[in-house]
Order: sequence, then structure tokens, then C-alpha cells
Amino acid sequence: MQHFVNVILPIPLAKLFTYSISEAEATFLKPGMRVAVPFGKSKIYTALVNDIHNNAPAAYKAKEIHQILDDRPIVNEIQLQHWRWIADYYMATLGEVFKSAVPSAFLLESETLILKNHAYDVDENTLQDDEFLVFEALQHQTSLKVHEVAAIIDKKNALPVLNRLLEKNAILIKEEIFEQYRPKLVRYVKLGKEYLSEDRLALLLQDLTRAPKQSQVVLSLFQLQAGNLKPIKVDDLEKMSGGSKAVIKSLIKKEILEEYFIQTDRVNYDEGVENISIKALNEYQKKAFEDISENFEKGKVTLLHGVTSSGKTEVYVKLIEQCLRSGKQALYLLPEIALTTQLIVRLQEYFGEKVSVYHSKYNVQERVEVWKNVALKKDKAQIVIGARSALFLPFSDLGLIVVDEEHESSYKQFDPAPRYHARDAAIVLATLHKCNILLGSATPSIETYFNVQTGKYGYAEISRRYGDVLLPDMELVDLKEETRKRKMKGHFSERLFNEIGETLEAGEQVILFQNRRGFAPVVECTTCGHSPQCPNCDVSLTYHEYKKQLRCHYCGHHIALPESCPACGSQTLDTKGFGTEQVEKELETLFPKAKAWRMDLDTTRGKFGYEKIINAFEQQEIDILVGTQMLTKGLDFRNVGLVGIMNADTLLYFPDYRAHERSFQLLTQVAGRAGRTKKRGKVIIQSYNPYHQILKQVTTSSYEEMFKEQLYEREQFKYPPNNRIIKLTFKHKDYNKLNEASEWFAQALRNVFGQGVLGPEYPPVARIRNQYLKNIIIKIPKKQSMSKTKNSIKRISNSFNAIAQFQSVRIIYNVDHI
Ligand code: ADP
Ligand code: ZN
Ligand code: ZN
Repeated sequence: MQHFVNVILPIPLAKLFTYSISEAEATFLKPGMRVAVPFGKSKIYTALVNDIHNNAPAAYKAKEIHQILDDRPIVNEIQLQHWRWIADYYMATLGEVFKSAVPSAFLLESETLILKNHAYDVDENTLQDDEFLVFEALQHQTSLKVHEVAAIIDKKNALPVLNRLLEKNAILIKEEIFEQYRPKLVRYVKLGKEYLSEDRLALLLQDLTRAPKQSQVVLSLFQLQAGNLKPIKVDDLEKMSGGSKAVIKSLIKKEILEEYFIQTDRVNYDEGVENISIKALNEYQKKAFEDISENFEKGKVTLLHGVTSSGKTEVYVKLIEQCLRSGKQALYLLPEIALTTQLIVRLQEYFGEKVSVYHSKYNVQERVEVWKNVALKKDKAQIVIGARSALFLPFSDLGLIVVDEEHESSYKQFDPAPRYHARDAAIVLATLHKCNILLGSATPSIETYFNVQTGKYGYAEISRRYGDVLLPDMELVDLKEETRKRKMKGHFSERLFNEIGETLEAGEQVILFQNRRGFAPVVECTTCGHSPQCPNCDVSLTYHEYKKQLRCHYCGHHIALPESCPACGSQTLDTKGFGTEQVEKELETLFPKAKAWRMDLDTTRGKFGYEKIINAFEQQEIDILVGTQMLTKGLDFRNVGLVGIMNADTLLYFPDYRAHERSFQLLTQVAGRAGRTKKRGKVIIQSYNPYHQILKQVTTSSYEEMFKEQLYEREQFKYPPNNRIIKLTFKHKDYNKLNEASEWFAQALRNVFGQGVLGPEYPPVARIRNQYLKNIIIKIPKKQSMSKTKNSIKRISNSFNAIAQFQSVRIIYNVDHI
């Protein structure tokens, strides 16, 4: 009898691939193990075993696998089921899920890798345009594959460019099969053997009196050593002694110190964190806890709806504690892990080493470690805090999932596929594990609250802030009025200006929110009306004053700010609109004594960017923090007396059916940063439309009213939650081809679904990175089957792909969250 294995390849293929295996291999292999397989002419991929069987494929002759890579599964059966659901529901392939679910170190493959040549300083001026694109891409990425390079320069064949770059010594090429994972070695020091006796030591210190820096290092080593036998890290010694690396190095050279290495986990519990006991819940929290427990007993997904600063986190902590006592694993999901330093510290204070963090900014090695700890059910990964990708960890015994800030749109993955929503995928994961799941928010999403209303989800509520601190006092300021009365100072109304002054006077801090980064989103010539556009995208370039640059926020294209109008030559370029940079700049003149800082994508790149700013603000080294929506996410500051919203209108008029819901959530969340402890905080919202219903609902904390109104509107226009939607985005660099292809597809869809098909239409930004975009939206009424709908779409897409001239048109599917 012949034996075969069906494998998942980490590529967007709709089908599983079949390879032949020997009898011995068939007995050994289990689903979830990795095998190296040949694919195409010369490629080798890491594939994952899906199932083992005896049926030869009908369409092709099965090749043999190259080798088995694991001696036990790295992915368990529950994960595979979860992946299948994700692939099916979000119209992605299993291969795409596989690829994004496991750390890339698990996907060894033989492909050419392009690396930057660090050993050689390239003069950028000697590079041609396409060479520069590749070179620049390598500044941000450690390596690129050949096909990625081809995409960057938008050419089929990247080899000529790469050859030229090679000649210029700008890049290196690396071709090998490799295991990327390497354990981390930490450098330690101890006193050299010779100096272990006290006499020798005394002599040494005498000798060193003439080298105070070296002597300081040796003394610090003693101090660190005092009373404990723990190994001493070079880093710690450096910090403690204030001595430089060079000083330590010279001591090692003289053999006064001896260095050695220990292999450690990269993701380590920070030993500086104190252990504190879990807080006793107040009566409102207790009530919520009981309601949650009751719903959990009924097996219900439950929403904890608690106003900002009501102590939701403490309720989660109690639930986690309970889960740990039963010996099960707990998963704490957050929308954006980068913003969670505060929370991580809080959980470590309670649970110590049991907390692991799965961080998108952690490197491959660090992620592999958490993965392995979870797979082995190690104590140190009993609680995992993570962003959406943490869903894919190899949990075998989950007892609880907390989805904090469940309304956050960053739970949706937009690129690449699978384009899943982590909250919804978490609910499915919870069902597979038969475990409890709690969704938490001060401003629940319409979908979730709807599910509560219909009785599908359980509900618990905390309607008071902890310590009975009042919700902030909110005030709307009419920018039209203020402008007319000439009371504006830059972008600050008199009200806001005065309040900032008073708040600073009282020794309290201020948060200012402006949902745009850069200095000004548009530069315009006041003579001819010309406004510089991105050559690759259909958007205006944003002015960044700090670098005197115009930048595209979609593709990164940037140019120096022209001195005069590129169209008419007049020196009348002016800015329109404003971003965080401009607010920060105005503060310098309006409040010269205050220390203002900016928190947005431009200031927080890199692993510790956020942390530094958040820490400095916590330590009150910053008086005024200006930021984009990064500011909204669950930060808990003690001393914020005032929150100012510079301009609420840009949020309200965003062309998206969720714009009003989002504005309500965003504004309520930012406002919630004010006055979290002790004193009531103040919030000032500036707007040209202060009578907008959403702004009124925000200032009066009328969640219910907002919900009812939005639900009604969604009903009217056949949007979720009562209906479902799928969006198809067509992408191509040829404008005509894109139009033709999307029309063809829309027509085919209309033949099946009739009225429910909208478009094709251009999105607000109709071209990004030289690719034109067009959307078709399919609205699916409640009674129409979702899976049948998707099958019809797939059938149409198969016919579409069979048409030669459409083959190069890409289609992207987004389900539910578009
Ligand atoms: P939320 O998550 O609802 O915004 P937090 O959990 O951050 O609220 O709580 C707000 C503040 O109140 C925090 O500083 C927290 O330490 C404090 N707090 C909440 N519950 C308790 C409690 N039961 N005992 C003591 N302090 C609490
Ligand atoms: Zn002009
Ligand atoms: Zn662009």
C-alpha cells in the first residue's frame, strides 16, 4: 500500500498538497508536524502535516517529501481547527493562516535572501533610483527576498538591480537552508581567578588607586555580589559603576575580570517588579464579578461594560487568578501591545513570573521562546498578554480569554491575509477550548452590545469610577464662534488656552488630542491652488516641519519642501489643516515654560519609543502630551487635570459607516484619561459643529442613545450587525484593466445577489503605491446564508481567474470589518 501526506504550504494556495511518504514515515508522522518538501522547479518549503492517508492524487504524481523536521507536532489539533475556521470565514487559505500564525523561524525555506552589507558605507548619491529603493528598504528590514525586491521596484525581474547593488558592495546575498532560531547568550562577569584571595585583592585595589574608573568597576562588582551568589551581568555592572564598556573590556583583558556566557530566555520577567497582593474589589466590582461568573457558568460570552477608570482591570485580575488556581492557561488580548507597559507591570506585580508577553515588536527569537513555553505548558507562560497574533500560540488548556478594549478597530488585521478580527476569532477559540471569554470596554462596539441586547452574550456593568471619582466635566467649544470673535490663538480657543494655563498652574498635566500627525496635511499654493501630491498615491503630501519635508503617509515617499510653487513658481505655498507637530510648535510660544512632548507614529518608532514617553509623562517630566489616537488606549495616568480635543470634526466626517461609532469611542476614551484618581477632570472639545449629535452624546455620556441611533442607521442602510458585509478590493496598476475587471466581477455578483451588490467604486484614496483600487461591497441580509454566499463568490472568482486578461488583477477580501 502506498502512503501519502497532505500538507499545508505557507503560500496562498487554495488546496492542500499531497506528497508520498514511506510506511515508516506514515507511522511516525502526525498532523501538526513539519516536513520539508520540494515545490515547483527548485523551491524547498517547510510544510505542515494536515493528514496522512492512502489516496494517490488524481491530478498529478505525488513527489516525495525531503525530510521530517519535528519529532512531535508543533501545532496541536485545536489550533488546526481554529486555523480552518479562520481560513474559511475570512476567505483566506490555510497556507496564509499557517504563515502568519507561526513564528517565521519555524518556516525555514530555501530562498535567496538579500541583506544589507553593514561592513561597507555606501554613498547614496551613486545609486540609481531603483537601486536606492532597494537600499532604502533594507534600512528598515534586515533582509528581503528576491520577489519582495521585485515588488518594491515594481519589475518582474529583480536580478539586474541586485547585480548592480552587489557590484557596488551595497548588499549581500545569502542562500541557505537555515534554522533562524538561536538562543540568546547573556554576558556575565566575575572576578578573575587570581584575585580570589583577600590579599591579592587588597593589592589589586591598591594598584588601581591610580585608575579610579577601573577601581570603581571592581568595587561595584563587590557591591553587586554582596550577600548573593547570583551571576552578574556585564550590563548591570556597567550601570552600577558608571564605567564604560571600554573600562570593563580592559579589565577583562588584564584578567582582573573574567567574562562568561549563559544561555537564557530572551523574554524575561523583570526582576525589579515588586510583588503585591491582589486588590479587594469594591461593591460594584464585586457585583460585576458575580454577574460575569454567572454568565460563564451558562457558557456565555460576556461583556463587561465599565466606564473608564471603573476598575475593569482589577476584575480581569480576579478572573485570571481564579483561572490559574484551576491550573489552566489564561490569554489577555490587547489591541496594541506597544501601549501596554503599564498593564504588563501591573500583572507582573500580581502574578510575577507567570506572565509572558507575546509582542509584535519582539524579534523572532523572543517569539519562539514564548511559543515553546506555551506549548510545554510552562509556568512562566501560564498567562500570556499579547496583541492579536497571541491567538495563534499553542495553548492546550485555555481556561480564560480576556479581550480588553474589545471595541478597538486595531483588532482587525488588514494586511496580509488572513484578514481576521481578533475578538471574533478569540470567541471561536474559546468555543474550541470550551473556556470562558470576557470582552471588556467602556464603549462597547455596536456589534457586541447588539449581541447583549439579543441575549446572545451575557452582560455585566460598572457604572461608577473607582473611588467614586466623577466622570470628567466636558465642555464643547464652538470654533466658528471663536474664530468670528477673533479669540483663537493659533488652533487654541480662548477657553482651552485658559484652562491649560490654570491646569499647569495647579501642577497638573494636560493631554491634547489631534488625530493627525505631521505639521499640516495639505500644502497649497495661494496663487494657483496647486497642492503637491504623491506621485505614487492619490493623496496630498503631508508637511513635516521638523524635517522640512513633504511626506506621503501611504507609501513613505518624501521630498524636501519646495521653496516656491512647483506649478506657477510663486513663493506662496501655504499650509492647510494641522497635525500634532503644529500643536506642539504652537505650545512653545503659548506656554514657553511648559514641557510639551508629542506621541505619534513619528516619535514612537522602535521598540521602546512608547515606553519612554509614557514613563516620562508618568514621572511628570512632561507637562503637556500632544498625541494622536495612540493616547486613547487604556493608559492610566494619575495627574492629568485636563484633556483637550483640538478638532473633533476630522473624526466625524470620515467616510465610513463606523465613523460616528468610532468618534464616540475615541472621544470618550481620550476624555477618560482626565482625572482618574481623586479629582474630577476637565475635558474641552473644540469643533466647528458643536451641535453634532455624537458630540452631545459624548459630553453627556449617553452610550445607550448613541447605540440606538447608530443601530437604526445601520438598519436603514443594511449594514451590520443585522446584516453582514463582504468587501472585495480590486488592485492593479493599469487603470483601464482594473475598471474592466471589477465591472465584470460586479456584474457576475449582481446576477446572483441582485440589489445587495454595491460598486465597483473608488475608495477615498484611489491609488496607493501606483496601484489603482476599486471596491465592491456585498450586503448580506440576515436570512441569506453566509457560507453559501462565500461559495458563490469563490465560484465567480474561479471563472474570473480563468480569464487571461484578468489574471494579474489582485482581489482582496474583507469579511464583516471592512
Ligand atoms: P479601567 O480598566 O476600568 O479603566 P482600572 O482598572 O485601570 O480601570 O482602575 C482605575 C484605577 O483605580 C487604577 O489606578 C486602579 O489601581 C484603581 N483601582 C481599581 N479597582 C481598585 C480596587 N478594588 N482597589 C484599589 N484600587 C483600585
Ligand atoms: Zn502656484
Ligand atoms: Zn504615496
